[in-house]
This record gives sequence, structure tokens and C-alpha cells, in this order.
Amino acid sequence: MKLRFLGTGWSHGVPALGCDCPVCRGRQPKNMRTRSSVSLWDDQVSVVVDVGPDFRMQALAAALKRIDAVFITHQHADHVMGLDDVRRFSWMQGEALPIWSEASVLDRLAELYPYVTQKRKPGTAVPLLKFCDWQHAVPLGSMTFRSFPVPHGNIPCVGMRIDTLQGSIGYVPDCSGLPEQALSVLEGVDVMILNALRIEPHPSHLSLMQSLEWLEEVGAPQSYLTHMGCPIDYHVHNDSLPAGVEMAWDGLEIEV
Ligand SMILES: [Zn+2]
Ligand SMILES: [Zn+2]
Ligand SMILES: [Zn+2]
Repeated sequence: MKLRFLGTGWSHGVPALGCDCPVCRGRQPKNMRTRSSVSLWDDQVSVVVDVGPDFRMQALAAALKRIDAVFITHQHADHVMGLDDVRRFSWMQGEALPIWSEASVLDRLAELYPYVTQKRKPGTAVPLLKFCDWQHAVPLGSMTFRSFPVPHGNIPCVGMRIDTLQGSIGYVPDCSGLPEQALSVLEGVDVMILNALRIEPHPSHLSLMQSLEWLEEVGAPQSYLTHMGCPIDYHVHNDSLPAGVEMAWDGLEIEV
């Protein structure tokens, strides 16, 4: 399977509006971060995890031609505000597009987007989404998507593990720690992708140091940092990371 980092930024994106810090002013390509999202594909299916407000431009940059399913980790705006644009794929593909998430997140999405599940008159375009309760492992093509709860402020939020016969990826774009159950689901992953918001601690996210500690605990041979804010500078911090850990950047593609 292949994975592309569509976006690797914190909720403000980088550069952040109105910010005068060196990273925001510098506009180095590897520091330009849209809202966090990944696409995954094998030779049969194409999947996107989270669709934030940058989704349309991310899909154009990645030349995404098809989406078979969308997974949503939680209801924060930086993970769901691109859902309207996903309907373009359902329209092209001629069928309702499955959106997998936790039940309370789906309720929130139904409030935000009441029109996306309403049937139209026969013969008119049907750009519909289909909300699917993500309780069990979801197999798609050669990949299987499993979720587990992670702490992230006071709202429900999940991380995920994606498995194929060739390898596995852990993806947790937002959390403030990895509980026992998360660690046990993530056991033995080949690639781990974890959030690192900034240098200073934050109540609902991991700092860079905390993220590195959790990555050591998970022990994947290869790890990537994502959901990073402008206090983190690729050209300052990437070289100082432990062996096997790298900062992701928008457009980076990996194969597992
Ligand atoms: Zn976020
Ligand atoms: Zn900044
Ligand atoms: Zn969040």
C-alpha cells in the first residue's frame, strides 16, 4: 500500500494567519503545512483519512481521481470541513460514498451537512454520502482499517491501524497520549505516524518531546511526525530527531 501525506499541519495551517515567526515568514516548502490528512491506496481502492478545509487543494495537488471511502478521526473543523467537496467523487463514481466514523461524530456531521444524505429526484445528480458506524475492522481492497480511542480534549477521537499482507501503518493525527489499548492495537506496526503540535506542552495534543517518547514506546522501525505547528521548523528540528523518526511534509509519499 502507498500513503501520501495530503497535509501535515496543525489546525491553523502553516503559515498561520497573522503570524510573524521565522517559519511562517520563511515559506520553505517543507514548512508549508495544510491541515492534516492522508490518502492511502493499493491497486484496487483509494481511501482518504480526514477531510479538512484544505481538502480540495490537497486533492488537486495529489491528482486524486477516485475515492472509495473516507475515514474521519474526530469532529474538529480541521478534520471535517472539506466534506462537502468529497461529494464530487460520489457524483463522478455514480454512487454514495461511505464516510466511516464513530457514531457521535456521524451525528455531528449530519447536523453540519444535512443535505449530503438526502435522496434527490430520480434522474438528477446524486452527490450523496453514506454515514457508516466504524465499530469493527473495515476491509477495503488489500487494506483493513481498525480504530481505537485516543484522548484529545473532551471529545471522542480515534487513531487507526491499517494492515495489508505486506505491512502495517499506525496513524494518530490528534491525541494527548496513547492509552494501553491503543498501544496494544499498535503493537508491531511497521510505520507509525503521530502528532507533534509544538515545542511547549499543550493540554489536548502531544509536544515534540512527548511525541518522541510515545514513538519510542510504540517502537516502529520507521516513524513520521504530523499535525505540526509553526514552532516546529523542518530545517531546525528534522536533523535532531532520533534514528528512524522523520518529520512528514505535505506531498511526501511512502510505500509499505
Ligand atoms: Zn487536528
Ligand atoms: Zn508562525
Ligand atoms: Zn482535533
